[in-house]
Amino acid sequence: MKRIAILGSTGSIGRSTLSVVESYPERFQIATLAAGNNADLAFEQAVRWKPRVISLATELSSEMLRTKLRGAGLAEIEVVHGAAGTVRVATHADVDFVVSAIVGVSGLEATYEAVRAGKTVGLANKECMVVAGELITAEARKQGKPLLPIDSEHNAIHQCLRGGRMDAEANEVERIWLTASGGPFLHTPKSEFGSITVQQALNHPTWKMGKRITIDSATLMNKGFEVIEACRLFNVPPDRVQVIVHPQSTIHSLVEFVDGSILAQISVTDMRLPILYALTYPERIPSDLRFSLSDLRHLDFYPPDMAKFPCLELAYEAARTGGAQTIALNAADEVVVGAFLEEQIGFEDIPKIIKEVMAATPAAHLESIQEVLRADTEARLLAREIVKQRSRKGLPIRAIS
Ligand code: MG
Repeated sequence: MKRIAILGSTGSIGRSTLSVVESYPERFQIATLAAGNNADLAFEQAVRWKPRVISLATELSSEMLRTKLRGAGLAEIEVVHGAAGTVRVATHADVDFVVSAIVGVSGLEATYEAVRAGKTVGLANKECMVVAGELITAEARKQGKPLLPIDSEHNAIHQCLRGGRMDAEANEVERIWLTASGGPFLHTPKSEFGSITVQQALNHPTWKMGKRITIDSATLMNKGFEVIEACRLFNVPPDRVQVIVHPQSTIHSLVEFVDGSILAQISVTDMRLPILYALTYPERIPSDLRFSLSDLRHLDFYPPDMAKFPCLELAYEAARTGGAQTIALNAADEVVVGAFLEEQIGFEDIPKIIKEVMAATPAAHLESIQEVLRADTEARLLAREIVKQRSRKGLPIRAIS
């Protein structure tokens, strides 16, 4: 029986994980949950799964949950809160496997502590690898525990890499091919980028996601983050990770080996599959998540247009330098995307401001999670300052709708 902690249990990956656990009650059990702000759903999950510990974002909401659980006859469930609560959920003695699915840097400390506590971690949070990938992977190596990617592309790469060796004696991997849907502006001419509205950018052709990740998909920054994630997870330099636009998103990613063979991973677009893979690794177990190969008609591939999507190039630059640069990249992007959503800046200002923040960030190697978080705060302040200056100057700003 594998005992599972979910960091981010009320989010989409968290709920998919619970659905997988529900399908295999003889294999998995929920030990602890970190739920965030949705107190009603947290209560439902606590009643259904009876975790030993559940954590909420604030003291107030945890008080309310404690009272409700007592009323439901579940006083034995320990209710905690805040960053310390999430760490407690991630490092609990009764936990074997931690699903890290809190969006943003707020999931970072608990994820790192889980690795340090010798837990096997399934990573659905991108920011952890982007801002602190070097620290986390070094700790996982020290613990002798795998980091199992739940992001669909990296999960695909993890599967394909099992087709060849990649150790000190032999490196059989030539390059990693990371597939990208291309976002809503794949066929929009560059000359029209100046007038892209928030509404157009939020209108992703295939996926319904949160606002930030939708904009990140439109600028290809999301793919840039995934390049950095791939470099760190699989210990490959950025020039061996190649992005390839594949609008059907049928192939989740590929690995090319030194002999010229390319392995690709195909499956239904359903996050329960990468979650199941991570939870059962190194085994595979039967599921009903079938892909209909006979319905497959087209597989298109194009190289990405770096001139149209400068965010992708910025991510490669940050990946090459590492350290504080990838932190600046992520922090600046979050601030700038927020400013774009509030129509303070235009679509084409997004890469420009991120570039400025990166240029103003000294290249530094960071030794601890505290240093990472400090660098993150500094980069955010800097990004906000640049956004403010641009707005004041009346530079580009509000896109024409
Ligand atoms: Mg992805």
